[in-house]
Amino acid sequence: MNPKPETHAQPIGILGGTFDPIHYGHLRTTDEVRRALGLREVRLVPAPRPPHRGVPQASAEQRLRMVELAVADWPGFRVDDREFHRAGPSYTVLTLESLRAELGATPLCLLMGVDAFHEIETWHQWQQLPELAHLVVMTRPPFSDADRAPAWATLRVTSVPTDLAQTPAGRILFQAVVPQDISATRIRAAIAAGEDVSNALPSAVWKFIQSHQLYRRVSN
Ligand code: ATP
Repeated sequence: MNPKPETHAQPIGILGGTFDPIHYGHLRTTDEVRRALGLREVRLVPAPRPPHRGVPQASAEQRLRMVELAVADWPGFRVDDREFHRAGPSYTVLTLESLRAELGATPLCLLMGVDAFHEIETWHQWQQLPELAHLVVMTRPPFSDADRAPAWATLRVTSVPTDLAQTPAGRILFQAVVPQDISATRIRAAIAAGEDVSNALPSAVWKFIQSHQLYRRVSN
């Protein structure tokens, strides 16, 4: 008789980002994944010093505060500010190592868009990432060649969500989500142009942006 596979706790989702500002594109897609995969919670992990882009417009503390305000109305989400407690660039591999040390064998699912997935080989110590977490790649139907896994990833791919609960890390799952046509870049540009963006982000975040006069000037 085959031994029963060892089962671990319900997986935890992780969404790292600049969140300059957080918006419904982040929240709705991630919540859809949370429900579809039965994640125990999703941790939003703001990056104070994101390594792959220019300096964000809002300060790290302002971006963290906006994420805190946003999740207040979203059960199943939690803010994780661990990247604020270390120096240097906000590398995802360090965050996952720290989560792994804290959470033991709990399955971790690193959520990312398909664009980010296809750039993953540029990330710091990227080969370590699937050793530390499952990768959940959020795709937009209809599927295209962009949704195919590169050679290094093919043996890790699964289409069975329950596989993510069987091991702490190591699988890759492509999860279709309803496209949310919102980006932080466009929100910043719209605010600088004096447009109303109140339907793109939670009202508490919009109030914070207004009261701190954020994004009044276009920069990136
Ligand atoms: P910017 O426009 O400034 O690059 P962004 O919102 O795309 O902002 P981040 O805040 O760093 O960038 O995003 C964090 C994560 O959320 C990334 O993995 C990104 O792919 C994902 N994301 C951002 N917007 C959406 C969206 N509309 N739908 C799905 N995922 C999104």
